[in-house]
Amino acid sequence: MVKLASRMEKIPPYLFARIDKKKEEAKKKGVDLIDLSIGDPDIPTPSHIVEKMKEAVSDEKNHRYPSYEGMREFREAVAEWFKKRFGLELDPEKEILTLIGSKDGISHIPLAYVEDGDPVLVPSPGYPVYRIMTLLSGGLPYVMPLKEENDFLPKIEDIPSSVAKKSKLMFLNYPNNPTAQHAPDDFFEKVVDFAKKNEIVICHDAAYSEIYFDDFRPKSILEYDRKKEVSIEFHSLSKTYCMTGWRIGFAVGNREVISALARLKTNIDSGVFQAIQVAGREALLGDQKCVDEIREIYRRRRDLIFEGLKSLGFQLRKPLVTFYLWVKVPPGFNSESFCEYLIEKAGIVVTPGSGFGEEGEGYFRISLTTSEERIKESLERLRSLAL
Ligand SMILES: *Cc1c(COP(=O)(O)O)cnc(C)c1O
Repeated sequence: MVKLASRMEKIPPYLFARIDKKKEEAKKKGVDLIDLSIGDPDIPTPSHIVEKMKEAVSDEKNHRYPSYEGMREFREAVAEWFKKRFGLELDPEKEILTLIGSKDGISHIPLAYVEDGDPVLVPSPGYPVYRIMTLLSGGLPYVMPLKEENDFLPKIEDIPSSVAKKSKLMFLNYPNNPTAQHAPDDFFEKVVDFAKKNEIVICHDAAYSEIYFDDFRPKSILEYDRKKEVSIEFHSLSKTYCMTGWRIGFAVGNREVISALARLKTNIDSGVFQAIQVAGREALLGDQKCVDEIREIYRRRRDLIFEGLKSLGFQLRKPLVTFYLWVKVPPGFNSESFCEYLIEKAGIVVTPGSGFGEEGEGYFRISLTTSEERIKESLERLRSLAL
């Protein structure tokens, strides 16, 4: 066999392998598994977006290579949506870049900035891509722990100044996956201040900006960095419009950072299929009632699970954002042993918190991407476990 590049050793073993194995075993035994582990909406893409796509697919103009930075019309739609949603102006030419899903931008940004041995500030628990792509770029992830006693926000004042001075990038993600925590205003203020002082680019992952409940409305980091001096923000149509399979998102923010990412990407991919951009424009500028309906579905599921778990004695907070709940494992278990126990004894699949980094140990994540009926069934099963 041809020897793999040594950088491949930096990719950690697949953390959910054991859980997947348990899941497969249960399935083989014919267990009726309820999967509450999936970070992918079970709701179909709203039909007006699908219809637009059908039209756009038939249009021959869309069959050729798209432009690298994204169709002007899509970027204009982003600017209009951003203005309506956050009250901020963006230059569609220089401050917006179309992405093949936000993961495209998040995963590639370290390549544009990180030198061998550079620290990169990454939250833990967190989306594993921040850490792994930092490593593959030669960087060293500097963990910012997200602890419950700090409302799952990193303590910026705990970052040693020697690390801060050497860091070029900081990853942040609010609304947060997996902790389902939102960021308060003064937190963003503090982070932007820190980034300006230390000349760090804040890479803010806002994939869940539109998944919110009650009267809470997540902010854009650009509301705190109005001159776009230090921030790039990654947005996605995946979660907002239930379009995970379509692969479309965008980055907004500082023009130098946008331009660097664009330059890098011209050598990696050839843009987003134009028909998808046409449909994406429809999503952003069309009737937003569909998003209210999507939020309402998640809100009802959230209430159901939250009340159910509380009454069973689980420790968790009621989230105002995302379609997740972040729950403490009961005494006597760790993340992984509890998740295995749930598969074996109750046929329920949840995600072990430890899969999101060491600081996720002691928690598990539940997704609201399953019907109310199945959620009720899973609560019944949990009740009969008498934990
Ligand atoms: C789902 C998710 C993404 C990726 O979304 P795409 O736009 O589909 O690539 C990014 N960040 C977090 C935290 C996510 O959960």
